[in-house]
Amino acid sequence: MLQDGKIDLAKKKLYIQTFGCQMNVQDADKMSVLLLESGYEATDDPATADLIIVNTCSIREKAAEKICSQLGRFRTLKVQKPHLKIGVGGCLAQHWGEHFFKRVPYLDLVFGTHQIHRLPEMVYALEQTGGRQAETAFCDRVPSLDIVAQPTAGAVTTFVTIMQGCDNFCAYCVVPALRGREQSRPLPEILREVKTLAGQGIREVTLLGQNVNSYGQTRDGSPDFTDLIQAVGEIAGIERIRFTTSHPKDLSPKLIASFGKVASLCEHIHLPVQSGSDRVLERMNRGYTAQDYREKIAALRATCPGISITSDVIVGFPGEEDGDFQATLALMQDVRFDNLFSFQYSQRQGTAAAGMDRQVSGSVKRERLRVLQALQAEHTREKYSACLGRTEAVLVEGVSKNEPNEMTGRTRGNRIVNFPGHPELIGKTVSVKITKAFLHSLRGKMEERGAAYVH
Ligand code: SAM
Ligand code: SF4
Repeated sequence: MLQDGKIDLAKKKLYIQTFGCQMNVQDADKMSVLLLESGYEATDDPATADLIIVNTCSIREKAAEKICSQLGRFRTLKVQKPHLKIGVGGCLAQHWGEHFFKRVPYLDLVFGTHQIHRLPEMVYALEQTGGRQAETAFCDRVPSLDIVAQPTAGAVTTFVTIMQGCDNFCAYCVVPALRGREQSRPLPEILREVKTLAGQGIREVTLLGQNVNSYGQTRDGSPDFTDLIQAVGEIAGIERIRFTTSHPKDLSPKLIASFGKVASLCEHIHLPVQSGSDRVLERMNRGYTAQDYREKIAALRATCPGISITSDVIVGFPGEEDGDFQATLALMQDVRFDNLFSFQYSQRQGTAAAGMDRQVSGSVKRERLRVLQALQAEHTREKYSACLGRTEAVLVEGVSKNEPNEMTGRTRGNRIVNFPGHPELIGKTVSVKITKAFLHSLRGKMEERGAAYVH
């Protein structure tokens, strides 16, 4: 039944499980907005659901394996409750398309990364006909880019999608094939969303996209990423701005300078390097050398001395020799990342690297990952220990998961800090003296200076 142009689905229960990156989490929120608007009710328990949506990831082989075993568990529910519908969206759904029905025969619905907006209509058709539905076409302009995801109730921080897709075609990566070409949202729409979020109590936004620092480049004369940061920096109530992910080749001097200019721009950048070897970077089609990367880090540190720098590295890219791997370790020694996400190269069908010769064996990849992670653990420990005795401005996000009498928040450099405190502090920025450093978090004591709050 259609009401006011919207589909009115019967009051049934919806369970969404999402895999993969933050873009997928945002997409899952959009799916939920659409289906709840159409009459569904959310449930946290898949056993009570009438519709289960699995939002899938395809970035590495392991993700696909995990998703298939999760779908296997949902199959048991379907045996007990034959009216249960199971759908898949996201990157693996885009990748496999209708082939998903062959691999997972009890699936009812497959929808691609550009088809989220059609979800209510497809679910309605499923309910009416009982057949299967599949749609994975790409659109020139992704309609779901304009759907505004709702922040979690009581949240202080949230993500705002500013663009989607990617034009970079890194040789190992399936994203351009599965999410399509880069598309930026118009600046006024983003600002409208951020203003609404500020009115709902959000204090920190993370601007989100596959390659945020090429924002706006698809349209001549449109505002670029630095213009966007400056405009968001003027929105009252937004105390902190972060962004992810940025590409080293698009890190302009103008963007680096904004770290010294925009007060709310946090001193943290996630800047994936992927390798420290020029030979490997070239084969990866990354568009910069290790020296270019070192120079950008030096420029960032010259503008913003305390900036926290995190990165991604892939080990075992085809043709990576021991000397290449040593070059990655050398770059890590020079840069000393605050934190690093590291992955074994995973061969993805349809990418340029999948057809390259000299694939690296699993045992070599595992050993390189072990060595690299041990080195990074030393650096992370060193960075966290350096915080001891410092007083940090901490935006309080909520009650600590493990300690009900403790609050948790993050420094501007994106380090988690736990400290004794009360829930009334949530949403406030407080001064916390750091007393203990762990591998991935800090502990401290709030400073009682007059009115205890910074804000
Ligand atoms: N757009 C971002 C960028 O350019 O860094 C992030 C893309 S991806 C979701 C996150 C990370 O996954 C990448 O930075 C890369 O290190 C890793 N990755 C992507 N494809 C991979 C592959 N085939 N094998 C192993 N790691 C991969
Ligand atoms: Fe993938 Fe490269 Fe695009 Fe990142 S920049 S999404 S790694 S193709």
